[in-house]
Amino acid sequence: MPKCLYCQQDNPPGEPECRNCGMPLPMLADSAGERRQRRFLWFCIGLTVFCAAMILWLPRSIA
Ligand SMILES: [Zn+2]
Repeated sequence: MPKCLYCQQDNPPGEPECRNCGMPLPMLADSAGERRQRRFLWFCIGLTVFCAAMILWLPRSIA
């Protein structure tokens, strides 16, 4: 029985949102946070690759 963090209402298992207040239940909120974390990781990797490409592509010195 997942319990709502906001209104303490018991919800049937597998329910994505609280039946009483409509807020996402803890289990699903955790997976959403994990997905956001993974997206941030891929953003960092992309940024690193972009910087490496720019270092190789741009001239080393202006003079
Ligand atoms: Zn609730």
